[in-house]
Amino acid sequence: MTEPLVVLGATGSIGSQALDVAQRLGLHVAAVVARRGSDELGHIADTFPDALVGVAAPTGSERERFETYGSRVRFGPDAAVEFASLPNSIVVNGIVGAAGLRSSVAALEAGNRLALANKESLVAGGPVVIEALSRGGGELIPVDSEHSAVFQCLVGEPVDSVRRLVLTASGGPFRGRTKDELENVTPADALDHPTWTMGSRITVDSATLANKGFEVIEAHYLFGVEYEQIDVVVHPQSIVHSFVEFDDGSIKAQMGRPDMRIPIQYAITYPSRLAADTRSDPSMWSLSFEAADRVAFPAFDVIVGAGRSGGSAPAIVNAADEIAVGAFLTGRLGFLGIAEILERTLHQVPGGKLTSVEDVLEVDREARTVANALIGGAC
Ligand code: MG
Repeated sequence: MTEPLVVLGATGSIGSQALDVAQRLGLHVAAVVARRGSDELGHIADTFPDALVGVAAPTGSERERFETYGSRVRFGPDAAVEFASLPNSIVVNGIVGAAGLRSSVAALEAGNRLALANKESLVAGGPVVIEALSRGGGELIPVDSEHSAVFQCLVGEPVDSVRRLVLTASGGPFRGRTKDELENVTPADALDHPTWTMGSRITVDSATLANKGFEVIEAHYLFGVEYEQIDVVVHPQSIVHSFVEFDDGSIKAQMGRPDMRIPIQYAITYPSRLAADTRSDPSMWSLSFEAADRVAFPAFDVIVGAGRSGGSAPAIVNAADEIAVGAFLTGRLGFLGIAEILERTLHQVPGGKLTSVEDVLEVDREARTVANALIGGAC
């Protein structure tokens, strides 16, 4: 039996799928947190009547409604940190954005298992998170499909036998286009639904290949592997979730239907594998692989370069990307301008060491200010 579950970002895509998994496996859900006191969170509170409920940023009427749940409820951003620190828990961190970093650190410092889906924790706060891991004695298990794949390939293998990791990338909506052909693409081209939602940044990040650059940084921190040993290959079918090549020339891959409930469940139940209803039929698969086009999608190399610089550079490029993507989505910046803003922000914000969550948040603020000024000046 697994330990009680704490689900942060409970109404988001990762959080709601984690709760599906919990319900199907009959796991005890100890606490849930969402940003807003939505109907969905009310439904979750009713479905898991023993769970503590956190509402990070409630409106007045949401607060009134959730007060009816009594002492189970906490309001404000500290709820996520409090619940992440509940002893002997498995903490699924599906918070979107830099707000997730504090909870990741709290979970690891409390010695908990952290099933990590929040990208900013490792991209912006890698050194701080790894330090919390070694200090608190917790466990860090990735939820992102690529990193879960690498993690699964490494089970039972000596760490020093890894020659390289190869992360797969779908290639995004603009795969196969030249840089010239990307000059005038619009937000509508980059998104299925051209609305400003929580999922839109990662959709644009897939289109620029920035997402894969950030995943290289995450892999570096998660697996302690040098940047020279991390490659990327474009694989449009998203069946192979990543590869590990070993010193003897053998390559392991983890494959399956692109269904996030598989890596979420594995992060919760590891090292066990419990039954799920997902089935794949390899006779239907036709798999292809191609090199990433780094000329058409320069954001990838800018971001990996920031990873190699280390210290605060990944946090700077992460903040700049969020601002640049926001500007692209609102028509203030062209698609090719995104990579330029990343590069120019990196040059302008001085790098340094990151030793605390406060360091990360400070450099995040500074990079946002610089990126905004650069975009303003570009118009
Ligand atoms: Mg991914």
